[in-house]
Amino acid sequence: MLKEKGILFDVTLCIGCGSCYDACKEANNLPKTSEDFLKDHLSDNTFNVIEQYDDLYARKMCMHCNEPACESVCLVGAITKTSTGAVVYDADKCIGCRYCMQACPHKIPRYEWGTTTPRIRKCNMCAERVSNGLIPACAESCPNEATLYGDMDQLIAIAKRRLQENPDKYYQHIYGLEEAGGGHVLVLSPVPFEQLGYIPELPKESMPEFTKRAMEKIPSVVVGGGIFLGGMYWLTKRKNQIAKEERSKNEN
Ligand code: SF4
Ligand code: SF4
Ligand code: SF4
Repeated sequence: MLKEKGILFDVTLCIGCGSCYDACKEANNLPKTSEDFLKDHLSDNTFNVIEQYDDLYARKMCMHCNEPACESVCLVGAITKTSTGAVVYDADKCIGCRYCMQACPHKIPRYEWGTTTPRIRKCNMCAERVSNGLIPACAESCPNEATLYGDMDQLIAIAKRRLQENPDKYYQHIYGLEEAGGGHVLVLSPVPFEQLGYIPELPKESMPEFTKRAMEKIPSVVVGGGIFLGGMYWLTKRKNQIAKEERSKNEN
């Protein structure tokens, strides 16, 4: 059986060269979307971005959650978690409801607004390359080992060792190990993660589990009324917000 795989990104080692950005584009046949990769944003044609925060660089991509909220809300099973840990998407099954975009705690999935047969778009941890015995293009291209690909247990051990052996160099936390139930992309940083644009204060439970437990505490009569309406209001508001953001990005 294949061992679970993942990515460890270490901000202290990233030199902001953009090789992983270019390699991701090439591996996924994605067109050029920006004159300056540091100013690009996640989109239907960009699955991996590098953001600059003074002299630090932070990668943003799908976190390949252990219990993906995107998968749990998909009514038709278009998003699945594979045995290697990658969360992948099947366009043939997708009905375009975009619930996955609203559910993702890391705000990752994007939608192809500009095509007649739109798909959800995001990093799939280079599933095709991996099935052909290669490693993800971003990890292969990194000249400074800031992005490592490997067995999850080994990556976790490496991350813990770096924190332990270099307490002054690292903020003492592995982002992605527990956030929203944890996932298969781990990040190390010299500063608190919110300073690098990572979403702070996510519950440690997975989003599907978090929602289930919250619902269990609420009397069913309330669930049937206020919570339902509140949920619909939140979903609609979030859907409209995403649509507005995507439209304004596409217009820029
Ligand atoms: S980060 Fe978002 S898109 Fe990626 S697996 Fe988790 S819920 Fe799904
Ligand atoms: S794993 Fe593949 S698809 Fe995901 S960010 Fe890296 S190169 Fe892009
Ligand atoms: S290739 Fe490596 S060093 Fe260059 S931007 Fe990506 S993670 Fe950073």
